[in-house]
Amino acid sequence: MYFTYEQPEFDRKDPAEIRRVIKEAYLVGKDAAREGKVADYIPELAKADGNDFGICVKTLDGEAIEFGDVEKRFSIQSISKVINLAVSLKFMGFQETFAHVRMEPTGDSFNSILKLDTVDDHPFNPMINAGAIQVMSVLSNVFEFEELLEFARNFCMDNDIELNEKVYRSESETGDRNRAITYLLKSKGVLQGDPDKTLDMYFRMCSLNVNARSLANMGLILANGGQNPYNGKHIIHPAYIRVIKSLMYTCGLYDESGEYGVLVGIPSKSGVGGGIIGAVDNLYGIGTYGPALNQKGNSVGGISAMQHMSHLLHLNVFY
Ligand code: GLU
Repeated sequence: MYFTYEQPEFDRKDPAEIRRVIKEAYLVGKDAAREGKVADYIPELAKADGNDFGICVKTLDGEAIEFGDVEKRFSIQSISKVINLAVSLKFMGFQETFAHVRMEPTGDSFNSILKLDTVDDHPFNPMINAGAIQVMSVLSNVFEFEELLEFARNFCMDNDIELNEKVYRSESETGDRNRAITYLLKSKGVLQGDPDKTLDMYFRMCSLNVNARSLANMGLILANGGQNPYNGKHIIHPAYIRVIKSLMYTCGLYDESGEYGVLVGIPSKSGVGGGIIGAVDNLYGIGTYGPALNQKGNSVGGISAMQHMSHLLHLNVFY
């Protein structure tokens, strides 16, 4: 983590300068990734190569500025929580969605069970496991996995997104903590759907195979008020997009969300598969891939690259 208020002088509108900074961010991220460690609590994720790093920045007019491992597929993991929330808001509405889950950051780890049992029966927010499982319990009464997959493909402008069977099986075999969360929610009378179907759909959504490009596309739709800028299709209402981005900003990086908000300031969501998605309003969708994680479960390279770009290109929402 570094902080500086010094700003080099250059033309921030010049495409060549923008490209230069994004390339630098890639190099900074690739270097920083050496400090991290790939996730191993889901055995299949331990097979990732911690040296991999890629960054894709998509612009509204269709340009892709990208470096490194941008085609490599990896599992979306927690970034699917953004998709689940988007589906819930779009089809259930605001009131129904937040009748079942709150909107507060926890300061606890992504898979914590603590506050659920001691502070409130309802999960704190949809960006942590308990909250995403709760959202999924509502969705599981109305949707099948294939329908959510179709929505994910549209959101990511990527028809090649498939379920990674190996990750799904590995996750489902070892997901005892998520099972504990689900059954705790059931014991409190809060869970809305069948626990096993809920968990199955939650695990499947975490196991979607994406790449940095698909994440950048999804970031772009978030940055563009819910509209696909290339075909004009409205995916999600702009009012819901504001809700989603606010929750990404306050809760998107687990118990590192506050620090990331201060140092990067881009609504983002991370996943333990190594992805980070970022949405820079009316400008960019950003996807990074670097499976080497820090202790909070966030991509070390991804955070460093995001910070570099945000600082030099003035992408912080409060700039
Ligand atoms: N599938 C992972 C889990 O539930 C998602 C965690 C993450 O990416 O933070 O443990």
